[in-house]
Amino acid sequence: MKEHDMEITLTTTKKEKPKSDQLEFGKVFTDHMFIMDYTEGSGWHDPRIVPYQSITLEPSAMIFHYGQSVFEGMKAYYTDDKDMVLFRPEKNFQRLNKSNDRLCIPEVDIDFALAALKKLIVIDKEWIPDAEGTSLYIRPFIISTEPYLGVSPSSRYKFIIIMSPVGSYYKEGIHPVKIAVEKEFVRAVVGGTGTAKTGGNYASSLKAQKVSEENGYSQVLWLDGVEKKYIEEVGSMNVFFKIDGEVVTPALNGSILDGVTRSSIIEMLEHWNIPVSQRKISMEEVYQAHQEGKLEEAFGTGTAAVISPIGEFFWNDEKLILNEGKTGELSTKLYNTITRIQTGKEEDQLGWITHVEEKVTQE
Ligand SMILES: *Cc1c(COP(=O)(O)O)cnc(C)c1O
Repeated sequence: MKEHDMEITLTTTKKEKPKSDQLEFGKVFTDHMFIMDYTEGSGWHDPRIVPYQSITLEPSAMIFHYGQSVFEGMKAYYTDDKDMVLFRPEKNFQRLNKSNDRLCIPEVDIDFALAALKKLIVIDKEWIPDAEGTSLYIRPFIISTEPYLGVSPSSRYKFIIIMSPVGSYYKEGIHPVKIAVEKEFVRAVVGGTGTAKTGGNYASSLKAQKVSEENGYSQVLWLDGVEKKYIEEVGSMNVFFKIDGEVVTPALNGSILDGVTRSSIIEMLEHWNIPVSQRKISMEEVYQAHQEGKLEEAFGTGTAAVISPIGEFFWNDEKLILNEGKTGELSTKLYNTITRIQTGKEEDQLGWITHVEEKVTQE
């Protein structure tokens, strides 16, 4: 399947674009979308770019019943010299295939998916906002579409990419959030689907999130599903701690999602010669470090916010305040460096940037 096999139907009625200071997350979508079908026996077929539109499925389509689906989240940016770039997009498509494998969904061709995405971005390039901190959020996803109520992998799927212009995550500047350590619910268990980006993980996280919000916290800190001792993730982000000069993040243990931002931060810290380790870390260790004045910083990492500093943990009826509730030095430096690389303000020393247009014109 080659890019030139792709059929392109352009819209005849372009939508009005939101103003760059009024962008909300994931509410408005660009003029076009990518879609391709899978049918058992024929593989992936009919890749096409079409006007953004509703899709029709039978009520018996398997996605509605057993949740066999995967998704990704990535962003396109305008650099200061109007170059369109993506941040490590191959990592997202590699992870999509890992998620596919876990959910028994047929894998997609990574090079083709990336070429299709670039084409889609070029077609909708007017939708990439260029104000400071804004970007075009990209949501590739796959759903099972076979009309069948039996429990088995579907024989049909749709792979779709939609895109949405998004505003700065930190409209009023980067600020720390309050986190409640979750003691009742768990996000994932080893052997489950925690390492896959699949909708079910999000559905099962909503209750804890809702309760924490009702108590004045913005996210929960997820502990392991067996002993509820070891830290896994924060909300839908990976989590890092700076303790006595060393940066620690939970090792990928089979229930933690392997974040692209997480691995980028680890590489960046190694590049800076800042000690960083991936290991088990318990809430008790974090508590002790805080008691001894050694818990210097904590932050979540993910595509949407890049870095989300943590100003407070609520655990066992105690509030652990970090860094006087202010954004830490390392969090700030990481946030600034990564966002500056993403927008071409800083040299891409680690080779993270993919140009959207160069590649498209080469092929
Ligand atoms: C997507 C996701 C992350 C962050 O991954 P990035 O690739 O950095 O965006 C972390 N945890 C969970 C559960 C996720 O779904």
